Amino acid sequence: MSQPAHPTQKARVIIRHCDSYDPERIRQIVREGLEELDLRPFGRTLMKPNLVASGPLFENAHTRVEFAEGVMKALMDRNNGRVTEMAIGERCGITIPSRAAFEGAGFNPMIERLGLKRYFFEEEPQVEIPLSHPERLRDYLFTPEPVAMADFFVNCPKFKAHPWTTVTFSVKAYIGIQDDRHRLIDHDHRLNEKIADLQYIVQPQFIAIDAITAGEGRMLTPIPYDLNLIIMGNNQVAFDSVCCNIVGIDPSTVDHIRFTAERGFGPMDLDQIEISGDVTLDEAKGRGKNFKSGLIRVEKYFEGTNISAYAGPPPETEHTDYCWGGCPGAIEEAIEILRLFDEQCDEKMPRMHVVFGAYDGPIDAKPGEKVIFMGDCVKWQGDLDGKLVQIRSKYQDRSTKDPYNAKADDIYVKSFSVMRKLKAAEKEQYVRFEGCPVSVAEQVLALVELGGLKSPFLNPENAIENTKHYLMWRSTMAMKKLKGHRYQKHGPTSRGAAKPEVARPVSDDAE
Ligand code: SF4
Repeated sequence: MSQPAHPTQKARVIIRHCDSYDPERIRQIVREGLEELDLRPFGRTLMKPNLVASGPLFENAHTRVEFAEGVMKALMDRNNGRVTEMAIGERCGITIPSRAAFEGAGFNPMIERLGLKRYFFEEEPQVEIPLSHPERLRDYLFTPEPVAMADFFVNCPKFKAHPWTTVTFSVKAYIGIQDDRHRLIDHDHRLNEKIADLQYIVQPQFIAIDAITAGEGRMLTPIPYDLNLIIMGNNQVAFDSVCCNIVGIDPSTVDHIRFTAERGFGPMDLDQIEISGDVTLDEAKGRGKNFKSGLIRVEKYFEGTNISAYAGPPPETEHTDYCWGGCPGAIEEAIEILRLFDEQCDEKMPRMHVVFGAYDGPIDAKPGEKVIFMGDCVKWQGDLDGKLVQIRSKYQDRSTKDPYNAKADDIYVKSFSVMRKLKAAEKEQYVRFEGCPVSVAEQVLALVELGGLKSPFLNPENAIENTKHYLMWRSTMAMKKLKGHRYQKHGPTSRGAAKPEVARPVSDDAE
């Protein structure tokens, strides 16, 4: 018997009502979803939640543990003896050890209770996946071995808005299948293409999104929005398309979804998607009609605050005139974290100016007001306090960035580098931060220093926890190195059955 195409093009999406985080209720709904889709887990079964950030400040940023528990139990219910490993794995937000995110989200006791395998993706060997499709940004990507080896892959994201990519449902959550040093490459104005490239690593046979309490407006610190839904599906382009429709967004306007559809991963057109469940699409749309999505330019975002933002185009202007995937979005997330952490953030913040890209307009900085030039690609020339200032782009073409040799600094190195930079520029009116992108963590650190704000990293409770997880992560990696395990494995690698085989859609004008 021939293998069914993966990902399936017989796209189905199930919309179910669920108004509580009761793991047993979730288990029942998800089990019924698996039955309806005629799916059973097998082989190495890996579930990926979205644990980008967790803990009291980030309650609505991640897949809830009760949801993950319900999904894992439903998968166990459907196991007819063909599962060889039942695992949960994730790489959380950049610089934070995934150990901290698992603990903060309350996943560890559940994983232990259910006897699951747990993967902190940054602690696993990173294996090479070759790419050959014409639109690829590069010829190979690295991903954690358990992802490459998955036979039955389950994507279990959180239903959220995203300030850089409009929404983050199933397709976008793939940024969590790369460790920091590989994730940061192309995490810029070509982010949507990067996300489309990541699809070639693995495709889920099953998707279940935590849309009971969704998150609107932002990605790390979203505002809770009760949708009271569990949405399930068997094709993630179709799945994201339905989710977009629920919140009134045309999926073809969301670049990462459109690119993924164009490359043959599934249909966006509702006519090609079978939708079922106890909530109709129209009813779901009624629930989602006031949901606020992302995509707000940085100048607008900071209007009415003490921060003035100026954004010129990133390099490769033929692709876009604004860097949606990098530094400008990162500062939006940074300020939201600080607002949550320090209620007086906006009042305390002194007047300052932040510049991105090749900006060629005036900067209205009075004497004593700091100007921050953010990112490798920033470029500006003009007068600051009577002195001519020339900022040159240090952007390196992406062809010079090789995933083989990629490096990423941890939070302690980043903290030190930010402090050193600010100290050196103490007497200057401006300071320049390099990086492509300058991460959310670095921008938080810079704003804390410049604004005299409370630091989320120095809060005694967080600092002790973070240091504990950081040391465990580092000591685990050191032990692995001592045993001769390499962080990266180059060359061909084994793949599980969740490896996609993609047939490009036939265009209408093809003969
Ligand atoms: S330096 Fe920042 S703004 Fe410039 S391209 Fe890179 S990520 Fe985008």
